[in-house]
Amino acid sequence: MKLYFLGTAGGRTVTFKKIRNSGGILLKDKSLIHIDPGPGAFVYFFNTPFEPWKDLNAVVLSHLHLDHSADVNTILESATESGRRKGVKLFAPADALKGEHRVVLPYIQRLVETHTLEEEKSFQINEITLKVLHKHTHHRVEVYSLLFENPEGKKVVYIPCGRFEEYWLEHLPQGADLMIFNATFYRKRPHIDHLSVEDVIKILREKKPKKAVITHYSKEMLLKNPLKVAKEISSQTGVETIAVEDLSVVEV
Ligand SMILES: [Zn+2]
Ligand SMILES: [Zn+2]
Repeated sequence: MKLYFLGTAGGRTVTFKKIRNSGGILLKDKSLIHIDPGPGAFVYFFNTPFEPWKDLNAVVLSHLHLDHSADVNTILESATESGRRKGVKLFAPADALKGEHRVVLPYIQRLVETHTLEEEKSFQINEITLKVLHKHTHHRVEVYSLLFENPEGKKVVYIPCGRFEEYWLEHLPQGADLMIFNATFYRKRPHIDHLSVEDVIKILREKKPKKAVITHYSKEMLLKNPLKVAKEISSQTGVETIAVEDLSVVEV
């Protein structure tokens, strides 16, 4: 599997003052999956070898916040050729699809096969199995950690925004090939529902994946220099940790 990190912004300032790009992650096996198409995702998609209407099989939203979902409608309009290309799948929490906070327009939902994410549910995206691991506490919206597994058994875990809680450790797999962390903060902040470096270190020590990625940087993280932070995490955990940049590609 190959992962294309379209953007690495996290937090209000870095995202909406465009200090880094946003746009989420493309996961490529035989199929192509767009995870969290935030602001600019449609434009940055074309910095990869792919075209949505030829290559994209599914979009997965971890949660409805705009830094994760702003371009979801545009990406799906393009991937479905406005409804002519059938079989594109959309996975999202219920509150991203229904109710006053929904972010996927109803007419766009009708162009795709829409599935609601729920804890412990599994889905098939052609050869890729998507497993919903656990729900996060994150500013009153539904967020899920996700596992993507290909037929060769390669496992990629995506841990999006949220407050780390001990029960996560019961749901996260041991020895995955890659764990991607939205490690927004360096320092732990008890009143903000985001991951910190301390949380990442705790999870890595316990779960020992083969490799880890940090992304979704706040201004604080950028000031700390993500490359240095990744080295610090690697040396404290023994897990090779990569601080991705906009348009980094990571292979597992
Ligand atoms: Zn969020
Ligand atoms: Zn976020």
